[in-house]
Amino acid sequence: KFEYAPAPESRAVVDIRSSYGLFINGKFVDPADGTSFKSVNPATEEVLAEIAEAGETDIDRAVAAARAAYAKTWSSMSGRDRGKYLFRIARLIQERSRELAVLESIDNGKPIRESRDVDIPLVAAYFFYYAGWADKLEYAGYGPDPRPYGVAAQVIPWNFPLLMLAWKIAPALATGNTVVLKPAETTPLTALLFAEICQQADLPPGVVNIITGAGATGRALVEHGDVDKVAFTGSTEVGKAIARSVAGTAKKATLELGGKAANIIFDDAPVDQAIEGIVNGIFFNQGHVCCAGSRLLVQESVYDDVLASLKRRLATLRVGDPLDKNTDVGAINSAEQLERVRTLSDVGESEGAERWSPACDLPDRGFWFPPTVFTGVSQAHRIAREEIFGPVLSVLTFRTPAEAVEKANNTPFGLSAGVWTDKGSRILWMSQQLRAGVVWANTFNRFDPTSPFGGYKESGYGREGGRHGLGAYLVSSERSGR
Ligand code: NAD
Repeated sequence: KFEYAPAPESRAVVDIRSSYGLFINGKFVDPADGTSFKSVNPATEEVLAEIAEAGETDIDRAVAAARAAYAKTWSSMSGRDRGKYLFRIARLIQERSRELAVLESIDNGKPIRESRDVDIPLVAAYFFYYAGWADKLEYAGYGPDPRPYGVAAQVIPWNFPLLMLAWKIAPALATGNTVVLKPAETTPLTALLFAEICQQADLPPGVVNIITGAGATGRALVEHGDVDKVAFTGSTEVGKAIARSVAGTAKKATLELGGKAANIIFDDAPVDQAIEGIVNGIFFNQGHVCCAGSRLLVQESVYDDVLASLKRRLATLRVGDPLDKNTDVGAINSAEQLERVRTLSDVGESEGAERWSPACDLPDRGFWFPPTVFTGVSQAHRIAREEIFGPVLSVLTFRTPAEAVEKANNTPFGLSAGVWTDKGSRILWMSQQLRAGVVWANTFNRFDPTSPFGGYKESGYGREGGRHGLGAYLVSSERSGR
């Protein structure tokens, strides 16, 4: 059943197989009970491939492979040698970047310009960055002899499939852990191509295991008794369930969860730059971004100008084929997510907010939603409080910096925020007042492997990226109190 014939819709650049097994102990293997599910192209609704669904027997095998690799090779290998493997993986990602970018856009629906210029270059950058740390851990500030936890169970979402994999796997391997990773069920393909890259890099078998499946597979993986560390990125709801499941066990957990970021525009902000920041903040990746600037807070004195400029700019956005290099906004990742975006937008309207979208022709097939702006939004509205995770912006106003802070912080989340102003002192003051893990000043959605990323409140705990990201995978981070 799991033979590897090319699927008819494989694009010239990338060979999409008709079916994929599980990547366990360095090999693709069939699932024990032979069950599978389909990965669908969200821009066309075509079935891309049949994907193996891992059950408990498969998870046992994957965790056992990771445990054996940890004990026999990876934990005793020198940091320098671990670094060599990571550098090799980083270079292979660069070499195969075109294939990876096309595959990411086909499976996820994001514009090729983003996967080519943002996702895949960042994936390589995270591997290069953590490769450099592998032989320097004693200088990372986690004590003289930092130790890995052991086997890490990693579960990731569908919005940045390969980038989230890199955020998880690169620091785990650099610090000497081995991993079992489960990609999201709607976007498994680049993780499976990454498994091939691990083979190409001659990574010792079992150091990286990729198992595919839906939520039940993820739950069984994080609940597995021989896992030492759980790293999860996804919704707050599932994050809370995972926090409950690891409570009372010896497992350590880091959780990167949802957000409802405020993008705050003061009257002295450079308007053209701010408009680009607003567009990038909420329409980048169709708004499927945990740190998306989904709440726009505009100072009252410039509200009319900002709104008029924003609408003019949105009228120029091109929505459509993710593989077209001119596309700005691609497809919504799944029918289920489209339904959520539609439902919450309808709630926005029924609660009295005013809805606006630029004229745009949406394709007949596939999952599409136009860039949408809601004005007349109050803090009580659900579209101002709940994460929509789509191309939908809620606009609110404020008069004073203190009011901006009060409104920005009035959310159960605390992942990110943006401040647009000409005043340096205001940027400093705002960044101290805002309860968000990241505060961007005169920019938005900017990522770098050297910077830690993570949330306050219901946006989760732990940090990924930078030196801080190493601590999430080192036992001695606790001994040294960091
Ligand atoms: P989700 O929580 O539904 O799923 C995330 C992953 O968890 C998937 O792989 C899924 O199969 C798995 N899963 C589902 N139920 C599970 C369970 N009970 N136990 C273990 N695993 C389970 O989230 P999603 O819809 O895939 O992603 C969107 C969410 O992710 C948004 O809320 C977004 O804000 C968040 N996100 C956060 C960050 C961050 O860094 N903070 C980054 C990206 C996305």
